[in-house]
Amino acid sequence: MTPLVRIVGLRKSFGAIEVLKGVDLEVARGECVSIVGPSGSGKTTLLRCVNFLERPTGGEVWIDGVRIGQKDSGGRVRDLSDREMAGERAEIGFVFQRFNLFPHLTALENVTLAPRRVRKLGPAEAREVGIEMLTKVGLAHKVDDYPERLSGGQQQRVAIARVLAMQPKLILFDEPTSALDPELVGEVLAVMRKLAEEGRTMMIVTHEIQFAGDVSDRAIFMDEGRIVEQGPPKEVFKNPAQERTRTFLKKIL
Ligand code: ADP
Repeated sequence: MTPLVRIVGLRKSFGAIEVLKGVDLEVARGECVSIVGPSGSGKTTLLRCVNFLERPTGGEVWIDGVRIGQKDSGGRVRDLSDREMAGERAEIGFVFQRFNLFPHLTALENVTLAPRRVRKLGPAEAREVGIEMLTKVGLAHKVDDYPERLSGGQQQRVAIARVLAMQPKLILFDEPTSALDPELVGEVLAVMRKLAEEGRTMMIVTHEIQFAGDVSDRAIFMDEGRIVEQGPPKEVFKNPAQERTRTFLKKIL
């Protein structure tokens, strides 16, 4: 079966600085991959390039057999406009470090906005989906609350419900717990664990090594814009083959 995600020779520069130096990576359907590595190694940029929040400088990203960000119109390949890109992005959920909820909308309104606008669901259907997803993340009792009334962990769970409501093929998590107080981390990780167990395809940038080891099918260690090492999390985290991975793990564990 073709992988859900296929990244080939991905490069990204900001000005003169090359942040991704040729990343090749495939993610199978239903696979949960965690990406760890030192700050500045390009992990966030990799995720952002997967859904073209950043446009790669080189290389290719394929999702479900479709090349992201480009269109073949009559034999001529061209870059998609930002507007066209928004349509493709609907297939890929992104959970940010900071939850990015709309402060003037309730939890339910935050969750139903994109299904209504992009998927064109009617109000009743969108409400049903919204309540289902908020229930899934344990927030059925908070549907009408505004973000400021919610804890950081609850806000992040709303953000996850918002992503789920779009029925994405792939969910990208960019350090989803790093902005949370320590006592709120567990509730968000529990939701993510449930999603992984359901067989959703997930790519997670995280510093939660224990969680990554327990939940993900594969761990990837990045350094200086490249994948240095990857494999079963137990091997990568417990018995890394590369010196750079060992040094990193020693620093954070
Ligand atoms: P990580 O997620 O591993 O910490 P990032 O992908 O966030 O790494 O960043 C890698 C490097 O790219 C850093 O040096 C960062 O400063 C730089 N970088 C990221 N985004 C931008 C940007 N929009 N403009 C300029 N430099 C950037």
